[in-house]
Amino acid sequence: MNTPVVPHALPGQPHIAYQNGTLMVEGVHLSDLARVHGTPLFVYSKAAMLSALGAYQRGFAGRQAQICYAMKANSSLAVLQVFAEAGCGFDIVSGGELARVLAAGGDPAKIIFSGVGKTRAEMKQALQIGIGCFNVESEAELDVLSQVAVSAGLQAPVSLRVNPNVDPKTHPYISTGLKGNKFGIAHEDTLRAYRHAASLPGLKVVGIDCHIGSQITETTPYLDAMDRVLDLVGEIESAGIPIHHIDFGGGLGINYNGDTPPEADALWSQLLTKLDARGYGQRQLMIEPGRSLVGNAGVCLTEVLYLKPGEQKNFCIVDAAMNDLPRPAMYQAFHQIVPVSPRPNAGASQVYDIVGPVCESGDWIGRDRQLLVQAGDTLAVLSAGAYCMSMASNYNTRGRAAEILVDGTQAHLIRQRESAFDTFALEQLV
Ligand code: PLP
Repeated sequence: MNTPVVPHALPGQPHIAYQNGTLMVEGVHLSDLARVHGTPLFVYSKAAMLSALGAYQRGFAGRQAQICYAMKANSSLAVLQVFAEAGCGFDIVSGGELARVLAAGGDPAKIIFSGVGKTRAEMKQALQIGIGCFNVESEAELDVLSQVAVSAGLQAPVSLRVNPNVDPKTHPYISTGLKGNKFGIAHEDTLRAYRHAASLPGLKVVGIDCHIGSQITETTPYLDAMDRVLDLVGEIESAGIPIHHIDFGGGLGINYNGDTPPEADALWSQLLTKLDARGYGQRQLMIEPGRSLVGNAGVCLTEVLYLKPGEQKNFCIVDAAMNDLPRPAMYQAFHQIVPVSPRPNAGASQVYDIVGPVCESGDWIGRDRQLLVQAGDTLAVLSAGAYCMSMASNYNTRGRAAEILVDGTQAHLIRQRESAFDTFALEQLV
């Protein structure tokens, strides 16, 4: 798929736009940020995050709903701070994420703890801090959580993650609600698991949850999953176990490459119509969006190091790599890549594979892109706010990138660039 030499509209990113021929995030020139802070550099728009959150808030107006940002999408402290200050709770999957939320000022009572492999130490840490709910993923985990709670003299609020066996129609690696996935409790085992949970002394059943996958661009899988979950709520409550809240997970997709997911408010208007029709519209609702809150709020700036023409392929070698932007290597994912300051159409553009310096053939960021570039130019990898920095690694002893949060005309450095020394600071010689 080729992209134009000078792009007209960037996908779904009103706060990231060309002005007078150069790319800006809100009121800040990206070329200035690259010059001052170097590259690779992640830049996020606070206004874009709050506007994405606003769509959910509009969708839930007049309802009892808690939005828990799934922080795995981007767990940088200042990003968490933006959502905490906007009233969000958090969906966490590790003790490390719990520590981050607390460091960013998140409210423990609004934290839900997901994940198939919580350790006893993580359970104890979360119980003692008083999190809102454990989203439990197996009957074995119920037993362990009850033991940990009893020995701490506490009761753990629990919701069971149901696997509704619904196809979210997304990449297999980010599909989580099908029978063959490791997540959740099988639909047919759910009632038994709830009876089990209700019988354990250390647990208090408070909810039910599901999450069927990520980068979902259609409404139907959500409607199908909702039907299946509501059927279960009916069965569980008929068995005498009250369900206080219903959590429908996250998963809403973003526009990477002409994708057309529904807007969050439009999606929820349809889902709430179904909830109302089935008599559950006034229940306490929870959701766990990640990607849709941050994905299109961020870009990654990278400098062109070398152009390497070849017989079969031309390569544009940049200073960002798969350790900074792992999604293409992991899921063959697409990110638009555009010049920060497009050159006038003087010379001929070329088709390039955009690749990084890491010693892997899988280290590519974009394939077959039409670009007019020279060494030294800065490119912006778009839609890089979610599942990029939070998945970044030190492979090839590459320090992780710096991060900037833009708020209007202000650019805040929210993470310093990691030095080589930082990458081996915890190691020692024998
Ligand atoms: N909730 C759970 C349990 C998840 O596993 C995930 C992501 O995998 C999310 C929420 C967030 O998903 P997304 O970023 O697609 O909204």
